Amino acid sequence: MKYIIIDLEWNGASTQEGFFNEIIEIGAVALDDAMTVTGEFQAFVAPKQTRKLRGRIKELTHITNDDLKNADGFITVFRKLKAWIGKEEDNCMLSWGNSDITVLYENLKRYNLLDEIYVIKHYCDAQLLCQKAADISLAKQIGLSAFAELIGVEIGEEQLHRAINDSRLTAKCLARMFTPALYAEFAKKADRIFYERMNFKSYNLQDIYDEQVIFSDFMAECPVCGTFMKRLSRFTYRNKKHYARYCCALCGRQFNISHTLKITYDGLEHKKLFHEIKDEEETESEEQTENTVQETAQPEGSGE
Ligand SMILES: [Zn+2]
Repeated sequence: MKYIIIDLEWNGASTQEGFFNEIIEIGAVALDDAMTVTGEFQAFVAPKQTRKLRGRIKELTHITNDDLKNADGFITVFRKLKAWIGKEEDNCMLSWGNSDITVLYENLKRYNLLDEIYVIKHYCDAQLLCQKAADISLAKQIGLSAFAELIGVEIGEEQLHRAINDSRLTAKCLARMFTPALYAEFAKKADRIFYERMNFKSYNLQDIYDEQVIFSDFMAECPVCGTFMKRLSRFTYRNKKHYARYCCALCGRQFNISHTLKITYDGLEHKKLFHEIKDEEETESEEQTENTVQETAQPEGSGE
């Protein structure tokens, strides 16, 4: 397997066809099965759609308009990258977080070159693999340099937020954390479904009568005694959740249940959260109680 660690820099700007993250630099490092560097790729890309670099991008990357003046356009650079990847060997592309692969897809789409993305056979999020290996919750998003520091990988003098340097640093972190088991856990076949899933925008459903909703999913068992509960109120929708009040026929406990209906690539996801209603007084000022809880969750000035 050939592992290709990629990092992109891009310039985001409004264009006639909407906001576009236009790639301005591609950096990549190739690793073999022993995690040894076997090659590198670096190229600037002359922006065609967004023209001038945004100030923030110039500051962050130190890439100048001059650097890009004599660069090839995206199509030429991508075809050079493709040739560098080669097709003799099975490969897997890795990047720190999935935004690089998303932006690569966006750029290929803009130039009607989506078919060429299949030069990449598998994809693996190096950030997920590394964080899991370091026993860091995947819910957290650790930046590349912060992670490198954490595991004691030398960052060196090189300018970060430059594609080639970031891919070298990712490669160093990966070489340190890689195991075949973790790879098997996070690598995915980079087929059409992979990209469809990647580009799918999940959303919360407001209409409980939508045809995707299964109405029996609104039934709930009492979390204390396991008996099916009776719904006492209609549903109200707020904060992207559907709320209703339920009562257990056996033990008499009452609950406010929030239902979250989320449409994902794989279909409807129905999540329930139970809040027990302790006594009548509380239920009357339910709205207020919830607000108070939110406020006290972040106390100000702990006196230290
Ligand atoms: Zn019960």
